[in-house]
Amino acid sequence: MEPVRSLHDLLDLQDVDAHIDRLIDQRQNLPELVDYRATHEATLAVGTARDETAARLRELELAIDKTSGELEITQVKAGAEEMRLYAGGLSARDADYLRREVELLKGKVGGMEEEVLELMESREEVEADLTRLDAELTVETSRKTELEAGIRESWRLIDAEIAVKEHRKSEIVPLIDEDLIDLYEGLRASRDDRVVGALNNGVCGACHLILSSAEENEARQQDPPRCVHCRAILVP
Ligand SMILES: [Zn+2]
Repeated sequence: MEPVRSLHDLLDLQDVDAHIDRLIDQRQNLPELVDYRATHEATLAVGTARDETAARLRELELAIDKTSGELEITQVKAGAEEMRLYAGGLSARDADYLRREVELLKGKVGGMEEEVLELMESREEVEADLTRLDAELTVETSRKTELEAGIRESWRLIDAEIAVKEHRKSEIVPLIDEDLIDLYEGLRASRDDRVVGALNNGVCGACHLILSSAEENEARQQDPPRCVHCRAILVP
């Protein structure tokens, strides 16, 4: 009864293949992968926001340096002109001119002081943003690393299981007639459901439909027997 043994082995092979398919599916659809992708996106978004904020902080620092520098020069100039005014010895017209000049410079100084103050306030806000974003980035990055480790571990376990099933498959395949393997592989490639079914009490194990006695006889006369309904290979 060599051919029947071969058919029974085909049923085993289908079970092993189905198991391998499930494991591959499980490997590709780990729930942690959804979290991992979301965390990856979040890390990128926070990283971009952090870099933009750091650039904004550098801009503010440059603006503060520039305005403070100008402020200092203007203060010195205002002070010097004021000293010249109080030193005396000027004509009334020149003194009047100088007084207006000093007032103008002092007005400028006041405006610049205000500007520097505003810039410093902005810097404080941006610094706080940067601190918050740095903390967020640390959280997201460590969450990503944690998920990565979990995924690698799950994959390692699944791969080990797949290796066991592949080994089992390599033991079964040589027991089966080559033509039968070709037919089986062809059927498997063409559809997702079962392509081999045990024939029990006239019921096809693949499509679960009943075969009448006449249909069963017709099926059994083919080599290998095939279900009249779903064309699955039948194992009597
Ligand atoms: Zn069937």
